Amino acid sequence: MANPDLLIVGSGLFGLTIAERAAVEHDAKVTIIDRRDHIGGNAYSERDPETGIEIHKYGAHLFHTSNERVWEYVNRFTSFTGYVHKVYTNHEGVVYPMPINLGTINQFFSAAYTPDEARALVAEQAGELAGSDPENLNDKGISLIGRPLYEAFIKNYTGKQWQTDPKDLPASIISRLPVRYTYDNRYFNDTFEGLPTDGYTAWLERMADHPNIEVRLSTDYFDTHQGLNKDAVRGRLPVVYTGPIDRYFDYAHGDLKWRTIDLETEHLSTTGDFQGTSVMNYADAGIPFTRIIEPRHFHPERDYPTDRTVIQREFSRFAERDDEPYYPVNGTEDRETLLAYRELSAAEPRTIFGGRLGTYQYLDMHMAIGSALSVADNKLPDLLRA
Ligand code: UDP
Repeated sequence: MANPDLLIVGSGLFGLTIAERAAVEHDAKVTIIDRRDHIGGNAYSERDPETGIEIHKYGAHLFHTSNERVWEYVNRFTSFTGYVHKVYTNHEGVVYPMPINLGTINQFFSAAYTPDEARALVAEQAGELAGSDPENLNDKGISLIGRPLYEAFIKNYTGKQWQTDPKDLPASIISRLPVRYTYDNRYFNDTFEGLPTDGYTAWLERMADHPNIEVRLSTDYFDTHQGLNKDAVRGRLPVVYTGPIDRYFDYAHGDLKWRTIDLETEHLSTTGDFQGTSVMNYADAGIPFTRIIEPRHFHPERDYPTDRTVIQREFSRFAERDDEPYYPVNGTEDRETLLAYRELSAAEPRTIFGGRLGTYQYLDMHMAIGSALSVADNKLPDLLRA
């Protein structure tokens, strides 16, 4: 599109949602650029050529939401399977259900506690921290489940995942994980859940499938050799920028810290089922990876080969500038840096910052979509008019 009405930098769920709304609701001509050679940001998946198994290239993506508007919206582009996410964790060679529930507790203590008995035990083990409202992950974890369960299932896993002392991590990280005094071992609490029936990429491509939307891949906003670059566009075109906010301002206030993951993919031809489930966490410090994903189990309804499988070992580490950022670390220093960038972004002409990288927030897929729908309601009309 020679002269788009709106430029979107980044084709992840935030950018795609804005693009779709701008095209459909405002009849705007939209160009989306992405520096990668595929659409969809980290939600992108591809078919493994050897087995046909859908592989989540950037780690497991499970769709879940309690937001009716988001659920109705995503169902315009794809149907969802009945997949319900369940996770297990290996601690000292024994497998337990996660998140921590009555099954985990009874197995861990070799007991048959009732819900009330288990609550009483955990309250006693939470000791001096019970009932308080700690701000760091370590104390929050102990106050929620008591020290023995915390040390078995949370402490080392979190240490491997964040490479930061849990005392220096915000309590909010662990609040993502429910603790249940029933045998319900669903991983998510949300009303709606499932995986896109034809895969993530088909869903994401349908969002961009509109005559007013053009997608240009392998196109970097900061590459001055391509026409729609920051220097050429800034202040002249409305822009929705979904890349890293510190990168946008040339790291003027320093780097925001991110975690990234490395996935080590292995094809197995000795078995059609490596672990019997999609995600197995490894809770102990001695095992370097945090979990093993076996993607065939995300789609039990599909006709995958029964004599082969694919697994991915997931390793976690701090991101360098050239790595893919996944999780904002959000330490004290980061929060100060972010405020400085927020100030700069508020003054940036005709540019909206959005999505996980653009806001430095850990947004699940449904949150990125929900946030984009709000921006489309509240800010897009003015941006397009300006
Ligand atoms: N967590 C843990 N043990 C587990 C699973 C999760 O300690 O077996 C903690 C850990 O601190 C993690 C947080 O709970 O960072 C949130 O887990 P979640 O599964 O939401 O992380 P994600 O899948 O988004 O990486």
